Amino acid sequence: MVIHVSSQLTMATERLQMSRLANGEAENSHHKQSDQTPHQSINGRRFGNLGSEGASARPCPDENGGEVSDGIRKKAKQQKEMTFQDMYNNQGLFDEDEDDDGDWEPPQVQRTSQMALQRKAKRQKEMTFQDMYNNQGLFDEDDDDDGDWEPAQEHVETVKWFCTNCTMVNLDDVTGCDICGEHKESGILRHGYFASPFSNDLGPIEAEHEIKGGHRDLGSQIQTPSCSTAVGFDERMLLHSEVEMKSHPHPERPDRLRAIAASLATAGIFPGRCYPISAREITKEELQMVHSLEHIETVELTSHILSSYFTPDTYANEHSARAARLAAGLCADLATEIFSGRAKNGFALVRPPGHHAGVRQAMGFCLHNNAAVAALAAQVAGAKKVLIVDWDVHHGNGTQEIFDQNKSVLYISLHRHEGGKFYPGTGAALEVGTMGAEGYCVNIPWSCGGVGDNDYIFAFQHIVLPIASEFAPDFTIISAGFDAARGDPLGCCDVTPAGYAQMTHMLYALSTGKLLVILEGGYNLRSISSSATAVIKVLLGESPGCNLDNVLPSKAGVQTALEVLKIQMNFWPTLGSRFSDLQAQWGMYCLKNKSEDLSLSIPLNA
Ligand SMILES: [Zn+2]
Ligand SMILES: [Zn+2]
Ligand SMILES: [Zn+2]
Repeated sequence: MVIHVSSQLTMATERLQMSRLANGEAENSHHKQSDQTPHQSINGRRFGNLGSEGASARPCPDENGGEVSDGIRKKAKQQKEMTFQDMYNNQGLFDEDEDDDGDWEPPQVQRTSQMALQRKAKRQKEMTFQDMYNNQGLFDEDDDDDGDWEPAQEHVETVKWFCTNCTMVNLDDVTGCDICGEHKESGILRHGYFASPFSNDLGPIEAEHEIKGGHRDLGSQIQTPSCSTAVGFDERMLLHSEVEMKSHPHPERPDRLRAIAASLATAGIFPGRCYPISAREITKEELQMVHSLEHIETVELTSHILSSYFTPDTYANEHSARAARLAAGLCADLATEIFSGRAKNGFALVRPPGHHAGVRQAMGFCLHNNAAVAALAAQVAGAKKVLIVDWDVHHGNGTQEIFDQNKSVLYISLHRHEGGKFYPGTGAALEVGTMGAEGYCVNIPWSCGGVGDNDYIFAFQHIVLPIASEFAPDFTIISAGFDAARGDPLGCCDVTPAGYAQMTHMLYALSTGKLLVILEGGYNLRSISSSATAVIKVLLGESPGCNLDNVLPSKAGVQTALEVLKIQMNFWPTLGSRFSDLQAQWGMYCLKNKSEDLSLSIPLNA
């Protein structure tokens, strides 16, 4: 089922739609109940009732169509169960030697690292799943109760704390997060991912001195600001936060920027090797190139309201409209700086994110579409063809909608899709653009979670780069969500910082290096900090490190690639031979194994 997100939907139908996505059915007592939530209607748009008592008890769908107020732990458990289940179903693919606990020998040398990775990932997930299974009684006392929520009795209540790194709730008697291991008083907001996850913050850490010392030695090599990497950041974007107290912190929270900024500072990258651009709020005229006037005015209205909601999971406070204007303004100015050659390339450290925001609606934590604003700013500065690569784990339905009929902007997205069951439901391979712009929208929809570096690099080699090279952009934007990163509570995928560095490196040479990376989603602070740092190091000219060129894709990854190639070869002739080569190799492999239930044993590189 492919759900097309439409601005015509009321919030109630959106909720129903999301409950369908979550439960595979339209009728659901939770959502019937929540649909009765009173709303404040402002300028034709509905806002959640403000600060109403018990509001936090009402379930509301989140990015994965889960029930936020049932507790993120429960949701994480379901997600991991699904992932675990997927792996359980597919375990024959990778763990042929499961009975062998001792000396593990790779069947083929070239598969060693791949197999080891898969096995390690599987063990980790199993352990986490097991942990949660053992502890589920602690938090899910109301598991059997799908209907009316009752506050726990006083004697049952225990002191809990929320993990800074992953937002999960933990009991007071543990010092390390049950899910991610982060210490209760972690220094991640001060030192970023350089802080030890396992001990409380002890002030300055060694990494800081080491790295800063190292930099002093490299002083003469630091480039002058005018031709270096620019970073767009402004502290006022930290003021955008959810006012209403729910059962756990909203995943799209100010600490995301704090943790990345702390990591960059500790590494001596920013401030240090990158230079800041001054913040500017985007104008209404600039926004109108992307969004309807009604959308812009609706966002502006929220600055007069303590707490408001565009959708059950997309909040605003009094500072959100300005934060969104700053985010879009920074992206526009970075695009102009880079295209004009005043900056070599750039990273927009911004929030709220943007890629779900469409012409007429805010949704999926996004208010204004920052990447779309940046693409048009680059075109105003003279760019003829802009490429947007969106590696956020969710489909950028807003960006796709904005450029759906536009041949001058090529949108390529890699995302979990699962037949439309994964939020926001759009982004099937068959969605290719409309009205003469067919082929200028390329969707690479993963059919399951757990996708790792191997499948991303494989898709880059066989789809993203061939199409991008033929398109020959003069400006490139990455919609860089880091929610496909290993450890992300919403994405449940397995991309590592080395994978993100490699993907950045692969796009680095396109459009003569005119590359702007814009932060979208990503909710595990350690994962997003280490990933963003790895990406910026590549922007600064460092080598991406590990060579991931000879990766082996998963079976599901090859199937997705073949599906996309078969569709897109109608618009990009260069893909024709790739499709037949890959299909032939795939056919040979299937024949050789006489079954599709074995892992790939042949390299499928270009
Ligand atoms: Zn945690
Ligand atoms: Zn994406
Ligand atoms: Zn996302």
